[in-house]
Amino acid sequence: MNTRKVIIIGSGPAGHTAAIYAARANMKPLMFEGMTRGGIPGGQLMITNDVENYPGFPEKITGPDLMKAFRDQSERQGCEIVTDDVNKVDLSAKPFRVWVGDDNVEHTASALIVATGAQAKWLNLESEQALKGRGVSACAVCDGAFFRNQDVVVVGGGDTAMEESMYLSGICKSVTLVHRRHEFRASQAMQDRVFANKKIRVIWDSAVEEVLDVKKGEVTGVRLKNLRTNEVSEVICTGLFVAIGHTPNTELFAGQLELHDNGYIKTKTGSTYTSVPGVFACGDVQDFTYRQAVTAAGTGCMAALDAERYLAGI
Ligand code: NDP
Repeated sequence: MNTRKVIIIGSGPAGHTAAIYAARANMKPLMFEGMTRGGIPGGQLMITNDVENYPGFPEKITGPDLMKAFRDQSERQGCEIVTDDVNKVDLSAKPFRVWVGDDNVEHTASALIVATGAQAKWLNLESEQALKGRGVSACAVCDGAFFRNQDVVVVGGGDTAMEESMYLSGICKSVTLVHRRHEFRASQAMQDRVFANKKIRVIWDSAVEEVLDVKKGEVTGVRLKNLRTNEVSEVICTGLFVAIGHTPNTELFAGQLELHDNGYIKTKTGSTYTSVPGVFACGDVQDFTYRQAVTAAGTGCMAALDAERYLAGI
């Protein structure tokens, strides 16, 4: 088997920046862009509407357009990209082994760059799970169009919840934003936009207890509980968008790489070195502090440079 110098797992801003740098350093990288998470490679930007904070784009750019540019640049620089899921890795010996796709094809590499990102969290209510894809979603850009001129509920208090609410307000009749506290954690600019939007009303201090109606097989409303007064109420809606944060995609590496208690990969401060020499982690899979496309891209660059120096024995 032809052992690659470097394999990159993941195709968001971190993976592609690592690919561009690795290809330019003549490391002939092989990237696996997976399909399992949401069915589209490219990471979370693929489900982000307008990106206004990625430097270099004074006019906003859409997430998918930005990712297409990243991907085109990786390919142009010579990265080989395979669209398939990695099923298993073995980091216990060198070369590292990676099994990919339905046929579980084995690939080997001297260095591995992990850029598998993070994915949306769910409320984990039985009714939510039962109605996923039948009115319950974690991606307004993907599913919002199904709720044109309808009433929807968004849960969360961070930037994602603000962004989803704003996006949905452009499509839906009304958006009810439900948050468990009396204060958002979102940036002030995003909050201001939400407060100024007449189509969005906020329900504070409340949790979704149940999504209605599992028996009907479609969303007809949500049952809320006010966490201060215990009062229970119902909001009629046809869609529920859950926007409560993210979980790192680290299940492939559990027991092989050191993880933080919250599941994110531990990296040595100021570098992308993981607990296994030769394995580097970049982007949201190792970052629960900044979680921005631009920081992911920055650490992707670091991972490629770290891998290059590691392979050169420096
Ligand atoms: P955050 O972790 O920032 O926010 C999650 C929100 O969901 C919090 O308000 C939290 O409540 C709430 N929450 C968490 N768990 C539950 C639960 N079980 N039930 C009810 N509510 C819950 O995640 P985001 O995805 O919003 O943002 C992640 C990062 O991405 C942030 O750094 C953000 O700034 C960034 N981002 C930036 C964007 C942009 O600039 N365009 C767009 C989207 C995200 P509580 O506040 O009480 O903890």
